[in-house]
Amino acid sequence: MSFVSELSERMPGRVHAPGSTEYEAGAHVFAGQGTPDAVVRPGSASEVGLAVRSAVAAGVAFTVRSGGHGSDPVTGGVVVDLSDLAAIEVGADGVVHVGAGAHWGDVAAALAPHGLGITSGDTRDVGVGGLVLGGGIGWLVRTHGLTVDALREVELVTATGEVLTVNAHSHPDLFWALRGGGGNFGIATRFTLQAADVSGLVGGHVRFDQSDERTVLGAWRDVMRDAPDGLNSTLLVMPALMPEVPAGPQLSVALQGAEAELRRLLEPLLSLPSVADVSLGPVAYGDLLEDAPPGKPPFDFVGGNGFAPDLSEAALDAFAATLESEVPTMLLLRALGGAFSRVPADATAIAQRDGQALVAVNRLVPLDAGPELRAAAAVGIDEAVAFTTGRYANFTPEFGDDVVTEIFPPVTLARLRAIKREVDPHDVFRASHHITP
Ligand SMILES: Cc1cc2nc3c(=O)[nH]c(=O)nc-3n(C[C@H](O)[C@H](O)[C@H](O)COP(=O)(O)OP(=O)(O)OC[C@H]3O[C@@H](n4cnc5c(N)ncnc54)[C@H](O)[C@@H]3O)c2cc1C
Repeated sequence: MSFVSELSERMPGRVHAPGSTEYEAGAHVFAGQGTPDAVVRPGSASEVGLAVRSAVAAGVAFTVRSGGHGSDPVTGGVVVDLSDLAAIEVGADGVVHVGAGAHWGDVAAALAPHGLGITSGDTRDVGVGGLVLGGGIGWLVRTHGLTVDALREVELVTATGEVLTVNAHSHPDLFWALRGGGGNFGIATRFTLQAADVSGLVGGHVRFDQSDERTVLGAWRDVMRDAPDGLNSTLLVMPALMPEVPAGPQLSVALQGAEAELRRLLEPLLSLPSVADVSLGPVAYGDLLEDAPPGKPPFDFVGGNGFAPDLSEAALDAFAATLESEVPTMLLLRALGGAFSRVPADATAIAQRDGQALVAVNRLVPLDAGPELRAAAAVGIDEAVAFTTGRYANFTPEFGDDVVTEIFPPVTLARLRAIKREVDPHDVFRASHHITP
């Protein structure tokens, strides 16, 4: 009897074969449609444990899916799809229990009536599981830190199928590793997070034309350098791609405070001659989140990213220079500092706490681009990324040992490996950014 048939007998109604709706949904990730042998949709943590034990005993590879916004379509083996573990419970004092299979838009909607939010990315459809385990840079990162900074407890299925409650007291090392170390240590089925008061937000967008992008970068840096922690912002410079997406710098901002205060803080930017459109006003936290573009993007990305500790003139020159490429380029600067930087570098597996911005350069190439075009697209990216340290795993769709050593500084990686040897010595969990024991 095949493994899939055996598992179907052990987990009636939970194992889905090609052709079923559950299979198509569970085999699909943002980067495309995968071709696993089956999709398993457990209904509880103990069923996740049963699936893990069965796959390990049969020597069958498996991957984990929460919201499916990762970059790793699965070929072969079994997908453990956590879509049915998506309950959201708001407890006392803003403590929230969230199933790993929930999406951040659902979390924002569940918390909105309480005036609460968990800062957690900028997109509604992104899943809870993958984003949390990779760190989670959300809209209000300067005010409330990373998503993992609000994490209090994780329900985790281990390599032996055991269900553990992992927190700072019960398993301090493992809890440290789960805050940024990815899916290398087990399958997280439920997270307990401390939500924050997100009432009284003002925010919106300022769009600039392409006439003076470097000046916009400089003015943005100056505004954010002196800004209170309450001001959060992202500057995205878009290439001329399609008529509905204007080219040039676009600033997205949010502040917990008054609109007049927001406009006062942004004045050096709002007074630039290249301002093309201003749309600012009161906004609910859930409305800050955007919908992901439908389907796989019609291009591939050749890119790099990192945490910039110093937004010097030379660094901004190098970032702006990436826009001069003939290959369409997206440049993203996401302001950090504030609460993000008050967490000690060794408190979680995200160590680059001195980062003033997360910088990402992405060149857009056709899906069928050959090595020559990809190499041409890469020109200039290293020079920009040289002004940053580390890489942000959640924004890194490249995999392999060399990428893992770029993501984590040596001390962090050594500690992650030691914990991996302890909790998963046989390397059962091979996450997208795979940390070997
Ligand atoms: C449109 C878009 C916008 C984004 N915006 C942001 C953003 O603003 N901030 C940010 O920080 N990131 C952002 N990301 C990146 C996102 O955080 C990662 O892609 C993340 O992995 C997605 O999580 P998921 O659960 O949806 O993905 P999945 O594809 O389900 O999972 C990705 C990988 O994570 C691991 N994994 C997932 N769930 C579990 C689990 N429960 N237990 C163990 N391992 C697990 C697995 O290795 C899996 O292959 C964005 C991605 C996209 C596509």
